[in-house]
Amino acid sequence: MKEEIYTIPVMDAFNQDGCPFCAMRRKLEKDSIDFMLGPSYMEDDIRMETDRKGFCRRHLVMMYEQQNRLGLALMVGTRLKRVIKNMSVLPKETSAKRKGFFKKAEEAGSSAYGTVLGSCYICDRIGGTFDRYVSTFFYMWPKEKELRAAFEKSPICVPHFAMLRESGKKYLNGTHEGEFQAKLSETEDKILAKLDADLDLFIRKFDYRYKDEPEGDSRDALPRAINALSGEDGA
Ligand SMILES: [Zn+2]
Ligand SMILES: [Zn+2]
Repeated sequence: MKEEIYTIPVMDAFNQDGCPFCAMRRKLEKDSIDFMLGPSYMEDDIRMETDRKGFCRRHLVMMYEQQNRLGLALMVGTRLKRVIKNMSVLPKETSAKRKGFFKKAEEAGSSAYGTVLGSCYICDRIGGTFDRYVSTFFYMWPKEKELRAAFEKSPICVPHFAMLRESGKKYLNGTHEGEFQAKLSETEDKILAKLDADLDLFIRKFDYRYKDEPEGDSRDALPRAINALSGEDGA
């Protein structure tokens, strides 16, 4: 089974704090940044792809912060040359030819500027592996007790709750799907209710009348609520 090779990173993510699916993405992002700035950028097939797609701002900035200025300059340099070349074929004046160009691009479902705006090699790389992790999670779900136990305690963020709700329909069926969806809702309800109470307490503590009330788990309720509502950075 191709999924077996991913069972370890999936289980590892469940043994960390916070949303395990955010943890998977965070790890994939870190590995991808290291990979890009390792010897990979000298490999022709990878460079062909990075030249064609480019990178999003978030990932350019993350690579810039890694101090491999030559490696990044080489990648950005050839991408820039590609953009200059692609720009040169964009029609310049208002003309029937120009209108035809943009209409054709729209019909093909893409922006006429797609080749100059690009996408992101790293986002795509993360997305591809993350999808395999999700399929591995569902492959493990029916039989791994350890995973189920960890799942019940996991603060799944709202975006990943929605992702799991949809993916569960795709990867599971019959009793397994029913059980999974029920457990997912039950877990999420509990997590969000606790967070709601913690955040209420956090707010109350600004009022002097409650200054002697024990702070419980309220201290980090605000960053936890931000992560719960929007997923963590890079996730
Ligand atoms: Zn998440
Ligand atoms: Zn990106």
